[in-house]
Amino acid sequence: MNDIPPLLVSLVGAGPGHPGLLTLRAVELLNQADLVIFDKLVPQALLQHARVGARLVCVAELNANHPADRQPVLEAMIDGARAGQRVVRLKGGDPSIFGRGGEEAEALRRAGVGCEIIPGVTAALGAAAFAGIPLTHRNYSSAVAFVTGHENPEKPETSLDWAALARFPGTLVIYMGMSRLDRIVEHLIQLGKDPATPAAAVQWATLGDQNTLTATLRELPETVRLSGMTAPALVILGAVVELRERIQWFESLPLHGQRILITRPRQQGEDFARRIVAFGGVPYLLPTVEIRDPDDWDPVDRALRTLASYHWLVFTSSNGVRAFFERLFSIGLDLRAVGHLKFAAIGPKTAEALRRYHLEPDVVPPRFQSEDLAAALVHRLLPGERVLLARADRGRDVLRETLAGTHAVEQVAVYSQTDAVIDGAALLKHLRRGEVDFITLTSTNIARVLLTMLDETTRGRIREGEIGLVSISPVTSEEIRRHDLPVAGEAIEATMDGVLDAVVALARAKKAIASVTEEA
Ligand code: SAH
Repeated sequence: MNDIPPLLVSLVGAGPGHPGLLTLRAVELLNQADLVIFDKLVPQALLQHARVGARLVCVAELNANHPADRQPVLEAMIDGARAGQRVVRLKGGDPSIFGRGGEEAEALRRAGVGCEIIPGVTAALGAAAFAGIPLTHRNYSSAVAFVTGHENPEKPETSLDWAALARFPGTLVIYMGMSRLDRIVEHLIQLGKDPATPAAAVQWATLGDQNTLTATLRELPETVRLSGMTAPALVILGAVVELRERIQWFESLPLHGQRILITRPRQQGEDFARRIVAFGGVPYLLPTVEIRDPDDWDPVDRALRTLASYHWLVFTSSNGVRAFFERLFSIGLDLRAVGHLKFAAIGPKTAEALRRYHLEPDVVPPRFQSEDLAAALVHRLLPGERVLLARADRGRDVLRETLAGTHAVEQVAVYSQTDAVIDGAALLKHLRRGEVDFITLTSTNIARVLLTMLDETTRGRIREGEIGLVSISPVTSEEIRRHDLPVAGEAIEATMDGVLDAVVALARAKKAIASVTEEA
């Protein structure tokens, strides 16, 4: 064996799209990469594993002039590697299954660039699992073939032996076959494949808008045409397709097919997005509010150095908790600085953030609003006790106003909340095209920013119930009504879990109505 050059380029399989179907090695490599070159089909959610500052380039940008030309991609990888960068070439599914991974690896090696190959879950495996079609099964199929549908079966130069495929005693999975489906099916039947063979087409496999059609082999092209299904989709042929009826699961998840707009700051938004995916839905992240350092640390630092003069420390968000302690530690103090204090947290998430620092809150109100926190505190504060309120630079003033009459309350902004620059045009396009089913509004601020942007078409869609506004609390609902729009659902508990429960309940009701209408 020859010695190989140092491994600077990684050809990495991204899996079929579901953010959880990336390998641990892929995540590790993305974490370290300086340059990530990704396929067009790779969802945005996977790129969040790249470190901040890494350069992310879509193949489509490199090949803008010649979509079929691989040269620019190769050059970008080679240039990156020669400049000493760690390069990840992130490819849909598995790099070597109809992904030209082999060709890229060879070309890199020729250029003296070492490369490693990390496998991924190929679309066939993703589609099979998420559509409930086992590719092999002791009673139905003991072999499986992955076939490209990209080659014209009628051309003599096709490298596929279609006659052999028609006789193949097992499951056939056809990639890239949608545009030639008619001819492929006709060909297989002519060559002797049973026209009654169970067949399925699976589009956007493993993603929240996965769509699966089943028919006999003969009827599949017509079924696909009628439904309007297009690429990317896979065709699965074989007796195993019948098992789907009994074992399909993904498309029955409560949020399947529901597209949900998340308007949280990015960090919390991603967490919420993961939960939506777990329920089978499609999250769209649109951070309307951004969290930054406060404009001025001086007041915070002053408060931190005089913590001894306070009795209570009050937090109204988990962001506040994080920002407060990060600053405390960064100026050289430690937990002893808060050892004498009592803590109040507005809700369970804020309490959880405190517990991460091994601090147990003394007060968490039964409902999670400023009014309730104020009421709970009024109850607990002893005469003469001083309160420090660590919060955002904007927000409601209820707490201070309620407590100020009886107690000394100092308020410091430990983080700054600014309206994020929203790509209004892109958002409005999604909304106008009816690509969103629910908009979650998780604070009055967020509601105000977002609702002010909406155009009349979208407002119409909301009024007609096509898009549902789901609010985190009565205060946020009030803000929605101020914009003259209906509230589709409100969280019973003012937390993200509460919002998720409300969305799930609405989606279930929607599905129930749809199935009644279908039966009628
Ligand atoms: N290397 C990839 C395949 C690239 S070829 C892999 O291993 O999966 C592109 C074809 O893959 C598409 O035309 C489609 O047939 C299939 N495909 C990729 N992702 C898919 C998905 N999420 N759902 C259905 N088919 C998919």
